[in-house]
Amino acid sequence: MKVKKKIRLKAPYVKLLKVLGVILVIVIAIFLFYRKQINEIKDLGYSEKASNNILFNFKKDYVLSVGENKTLNAAFESPDFIEDNLEDYSKIDYVKQDNLIRNINKLIKKGYMNSDISLILKHGSEEDVASFAKRDKVKYLEEFLSINNAKLSNYDRYLNYSYETGEDEETTVLYVNLNLDKTPYEDATIVEDFSYDMVVNKYRGLNEDFVPNLVSISEKYASDKGMKAEKVALNAFIKMAKDAEKAGLGLVINSSYRSYQDQVDIAETYQGLYGDDYVTKYVAKPGFSEHQTGLAFDIGSTTSNIFANSKEYTWMLENAYKYGFILRFPQKYEDITGFRSEPWHYRYVGTKISKYIYENDITLEEYYALFLDK
Ligand code: ZN
Repeated sequence: MKVKKKIRLKAPYVKLLKVLGVILVIVIAIFLFYRKQINEIKDLGYSEKASNNILFNFKKDYVLSVGENKTLNAAFESPDFIEDNLEDYSKIDYVKQDNLIRNINKLIKKGYMNSDISLILKHGSEEDVASFAKRDKVKYLEEFLSINNAKLSNYDRYLNYSYETGEDEETTVLYVNLNLDKTPYEDATIVEDFSYDMVVNKYRGLNEDFVPNLVSISEKYASDKGMKAEKVALNAFIKMAKDAEKAGLGLVINSSYRSYQDQVDIAETYQGLYGDDYVTKYVAKPGFSEHQTGLAFDIGSTTSNIFANSKEYTWMLENAYKYGFILRFPQKYEDITGFRSEPWHYRYVGTKISKYIYENDITLEEYYALFLDK
């Protein structure tokens, strides 16, 4: 039988253990103290990573005095952090960009004030800001960038356009955003995908093979055989025509979907009849006609030969938006749409957009610039 030996530690080990115990207590205390500090910073909305860097840079008191600040958070998270720029970071409006702090540093170096930097960041993408930071300092930034929809990437075009036309800043920003400073049909954007809010005009064209989801228009609603339109848009038209009928009116479709080739033929016919100038002015080039989307309708009246003089025309002006349609080329907006007034040309955009356009009395181009051009 084994006798259990009483283990007795020798004196030096006891001492060592005591020391280790004390060290452990100190380490735990330091750790708890450190966590408390981190949590104080994190409670203000800073990330773990930023909080650590704030602590190791001895900026906790500064950060506590500033409070929640997303730009500051990004600065302390970033490898581009420069201590001299600390005060500036906290005064510049945050935007979500990967190299935000690097761009801010560049702009500060260029001599921009914090309010200018906020404006620059607000109106440009990461790439826009990076390339803007490379150019010489611009003096009167607010002139254009204080306007809501101004785009940093259009800055030079705003300058040129307002210099050449004498337009005020707001008009300049709108018109340049709508590409009205460009030559029609040149450097046009190609619109690839179908959508009910798609914009096709002299600056935004369709490929030859673009074809929407088409259905045939029944003879009751068409002035000719074999006409087609986009399905949802046609259903909306039929609903509208039925309601118009109840009001004693007759709506009919004179033209709807036209293929790329149809537009080629039309242009050739008109050119033969009236010459180049006429075609340039009044006939959309192939690929640039809204009729190729299947969403455009040239509407006629069954009671009058001249649509603009008909009761149907008046009724459409007040009611079409309820069915998702807008008058596409109003007379007073010829400058914006680039087309002369067409009282008969309606475009299906869906009721959300048609209502907005009707209530705010704007064009589809302006709606696009406001909400769709991201
Ligand atoms: Zn038309």
